[in-house]
Amino acid sequence: MPQGLRLVLFGPPGAGKGTQAQLLKERLKVCHISSGDLFRHHLGHGTPLGLEAQEYMNRGELVPDEVTIDIVLEKVMAIPEDEGFILDGFPRNPNQAQELEKALAGRSRNLDKVVYIDVAQPELLRRLGGRSVCRSCQAPNAICEDEDIAAKTCGRCGGELYQREDDNPQAVKRRIEVYYEETLPVLGFYRTRGVLVEVPGDGTVEKVNSQVMEAIGSGPCVAAGL
Ligand code: ADP
Repeated sequence: MPQGLRLVLFGPPGAGKGTQAQLLKERLKVCHISSGDLFRHHLGHGTPLGLEAQEYMNRGELVPDEVTIDIVLEKVMAIPEDEGFILDGFPRNPNQAQELEKALAGRSRNLDKVVYIDVAQPELLRRLGGRSVCRSCQAPNAICEDEDIAAKTCGRCGGELYQREDDNPQAVKRRIEVYYEETLPVLGFYRTRGVLVEVPGDGTVEKVNSQVMEAIGSGPCVAAGL
């Protein structure tokens, strides 16, 4: 039986991982697991985990591994063996990458591809400053500077839009710093595993999507040595 692709979408905040994940999820018929959405879901329900995560998220810092790894891996390991998944926002440091690899080692195969979507810093700042998120489907939506967010609805499902608290200028600056300091080293980890593919993230959503599809188009492959 053909098995679903196991993908990680990797890149800086604002690279378009969430947008691409939504499209890929529909095209590839696989689950989408976003660590940021998991935390926002907990926060929306006022759980202790959500309240703890909020402190870090609003400052633009990573939520500690002791909290993050368990909640994400629990979701990943609940996916049936023959189904694929798209991970977005995880792993965000080398320790998380190692723990994911260990967890998947007990499965028939590890990750098929890690898709690195890169975008230059000025464009990231521009995008994050003008971004809103749908309360119901979590899809990111672009808003122009002079647009009234309350008058707009989600282009995907018509839901209510809101601006994330961590999309304020100070938190955005810190999130980008944290990405370069703590997250970027994960690329080296996946390069050595032979699963890394790179796609420029500065084109239109559709263009980036077709480049991602092309980059993963070779189909599932067993990562050497995993
Ligand atoms: P973005 O990619 O736009 O920065 P996310 O929704 O992926 O946004 O993440 C929002 C915040 O949630 C991060 O800034 C961080 O505080 C927290 N977070 C998400 N994923 C992780 C992770 N894997 N490890 C630690 N913290 C995380």
